[in-house]
Amino acid sequence: MNGAGLRIGVLEGDDIGHEVVPASVEVARKAAAIAGQDVTWVEVPIGRRALDTHGHTMPEGTLETLESLDGWILGPIGHREYPKMPEAVNPHPILRKRFDLFANVRPTRSFADIGCLHNDIDLVIVRENNEGFQPDRNVVAGSGEFRPTQDVTISVRVITMEGSRKVARAAFEIARSRKRRLTLVHKNTVYKLGCGMFVDGCYEVARDFPDVEVDEVIVDTMAMRLVRDPQSFDVVVTTNMFGDILTDEAAGLVGGLGMAPGLCIGRGSKAMAQATHGSAPDIAGQGLANPYAIIESTRMLFDWLGHNRDLAGARRVSELMKTGIDAALADPASRTPDIRGTGRQRDMVEAILAAMA
Ligand code: ATP
Repeated sequence: MNGAGLRIGVLEGDDIGHEVVPASVEVARKAAAIAGQDVTWVEVPIGRRALDTHGHTMPEGTLETLESLDGWILGPIGHREYPKMPEAVNPHPILRKRFDLFANVRPTRSFADIGCLHNDIDLVIVRENNEGFQPDRNVVAGSGEFRPTQDVTISVRVITMEGSRKVARAAFEIARSRKRRLTLVHKNTVYKLGCGMFVDGCYEVARDFPDVEVDEVIVDTMAMRLVRDPQSFDVVVTTNMFGDILTDEAAGLVGGLGMAPGLCIGRGSKAMAQATHGSAPDIAGQGLANPYAIIESTRMLFDWLGHNRDLAGARRVSELMKTGIDAALADPASRTPDIRGTGRQRDMVEAILAAMA
């Protein structure tokens, strides 16, 4: 083995997470063995199973364990089905906040014959991760949503100058590594203060990236243009809730949620691979869930670590995984049914492993 060793956490999550996360570890393990990249895999209990075995969906010591790692794979969390009790928390916002993973990098790419609505999409949406409208993560205590009287509900959106600058910088850096074009998506025509601050933060950072061309699109226009001419976008940056909605829309353009990977990053040295999809209880346990999204998220994690730590071995892992993924997606026999395949999840994994070898 050569290259500095990496410690990567495996947090399966719920439902299809118990299938697709082990599949992605199997693929990455093999790529690491071929690349000579030393990786220690650390199983970290999380979610419904952790509630049953450890009495909490995020057992004591989880954050300390993650602190000792270089990165981790977080499977989908089916928190809507958790029993209503204090020990059954949704771990997403806690992890993103604790490790300041403020940027959620979500690529959308077309592959041939899988049912994409356009065949030439290649864009990245960078979604702000830790503030905005999400009431479970935009306050340090209490909830960003409350009901002062029986028939009145108030939801607050938090936008900060610092949060806007941080996600903007992450997006500009990605834009610089691609086509040097960044689109700011917002609605400052109505949210003059909130979106206004987000846009101001982005333009402040833009001064450090004179080589990146910037334009702006109002979010409702963006929802329409993403369907009609997604090819006109390269890197997009937006606030949390707009990004949540637009990334699902973008997934719909290229075959659905099984084709929507993601990587949560910050300024620190750790990153979290997390696909856009939920735990999909409707198809769990049947061997039919598309593992692409989480395998590609894992590939992005290795690529990110390879560049951030200057680890040639980790970059090689990412290249090998890409070769395997591209080969598997090119053959209907190794694709899952959601992307016009005749195969099952295991067929896709086997095809990726074979192509990497
Ligand atoms: P959440 O609220 O956690 O985002 P959700 O119910 O909105 O969850 P998903 O759990 O992602 O969304 O499921 C939405 C639909 O997409 C379901 O029909 C599910 O079967 C399908 N789906 C999600 N992920 C995959 C996957 N990896 N492969 C195939 N189908 C998937």
